[in-house]
Amino acid sequence: MASQNETNRTNCYLAASAELVEGREGFQWRVSECPLCGLEHWHGAAGLTEDPRTYLSHRVAHCIKRPSAEIVAALEILNCDSSGYILVDEDPRRTDAMWTGPETEDAEVAR
Ligand SMILES: [Zn+2]
Repeated sequence: MASQNETNRTNCYLAASAELVEGREGFQWRVSECPLCGLEHWHGAAGLTEDPRTYLSHRVAHCIKRPSAEIVAALEILNCDSSGYILVDEDPRRTDAMWTGPETEDAEVAR
């Protein structure tokens, strides 16, 4: 049976502040400063017809360098996992303005 600590471990991840970026093919979430390695990472969010906020969840970190000794020590104390983080929208009002819902054919006709 898993100990209490092992059970908690899978539920503890750092938060990564992410900014929504709209591209030609779809949305992406940009983490400008990874909480683990400090570098910038990009995560696919959705096509332009899907709410990108549904992709705000646990994501595998794209770190190419290891976390610092200080971060590793903090993760140990918090009993947190270093394999990923939880994406958190850094500016929900801005996201609301960018994502106005899927465009339907009816909306096209109405213009
Ligand atoms: Zn990283």
